[in-house]
Amino acid sequence: MLIKTDNLTKHFDLGKGQTLHAVDGVSIEIEENEVLGLVGESGSGKSTFGKTLIGLLPKTSGMAFYRDQPLPERFSATDHLHYSRELQMIFQDPYSSLNPRMTVLDIIGEGLHIQGQYSRQEIRDHVASWLFKVGLNPDHMSRYPHEFSGGQRQRIGIARAMIIEPGFVVCDEPISALDVSVQAQVINLLDELKESMGLTLMFIAHDLSMVRYVSDRMAVMYLGAVVESGPADEVFFEPRHPYTELLVQSNPEPDPQRESARDYIPIKGEITSPINVQPGCRFADRCPKVMDQCRHVTPEFTAVENQRQVACHLYN
Ligand code: SF4
Repeated sequence: MLIKTDNLTKHFDLGKGQTLHAVDGVSIEIEENEVLGLVGESGSGKSTFGKTLIGLLPKTSGMAFYRDQPLPERFSATDHLHYSRELQMIFQDPYSSLNPRMTVLDIIGEGLHIQGQYSRQEIRDHVASWLFKVGLNPDHMSRYPHEFSGGQRQRIGIARAMIIEPGFVVCDEPISALDVSVQAQVINLLDELKESMGLTLMFIAHDLSMVRYVSDRMAVMYLGAVVESGPADEVFFEPRHPYTELLVQSNPEPDPQRESARDYIPIKGEITSPINVQPGCRFADRCPKVMDQCRHVTPEFTAVENQRQVACHLYN
């Protein structure tokens, strides 16, 4: 297994006895060359999970493994340097994730520079080749991020993450800050790179149909916990958990005519506060199928059939 987490938990102490349960006991596995899509509404803990998994945030408890080796609970500067060759992240916001004072050459070449094995000319050549691969003009490597559009900046972010040929990449909502017209281009680029480089990715997004398109398997997160996982198509077309059912039903149709013709079913209410989470099902306040036991007994995340797991009393 390339990536595995075992009850990975990330809490934030807010003081005055209050704890924010951003990630609560998440256990996932990702095989080599596999794309795991992680979906859920804003505030479900997806990004915090991604950052904690690759060491950008210290863990509160639980374990994460890379190639069967445990990752440190809290990364030291040496750990960051060591694992930056293996674990990378593509960030949501291509506007703030690139240093405005660095040229594209320095931004994309930084990972190679840190490795200390490449001459300045070799780094230039690698950066030029990567600019070409991501569809940008290699002659523009001396330019600064503000001279590029949002979609182009995200391509720069992708080249920066990929140039060191990492073993695992977390793509944190890589298209949500982009115009709809360029979203598909960036997705297609990631898809091509995945095929040509044999990448292993965790693709975080709230757009279910986009996640289904790029992922082999899908995990659905709600309020810090995974509530359903399985092969991407099966989860999308035959959701088991009531939250996944509602997410699928509220997912917009790409065809505007079909979208305006269908009954839109919004998920009622807001995601519950992640502060001082109580026992019981986290989705109980919004679930149309809620039962008495759901309010005080936490459902186990259990296998319901081959490769499918659900945390719901309807299946326990
Ligand atoms: Fe709904 Fe109960 Fe299942 Fe939670 S455990 S999703 S409240 S039916």
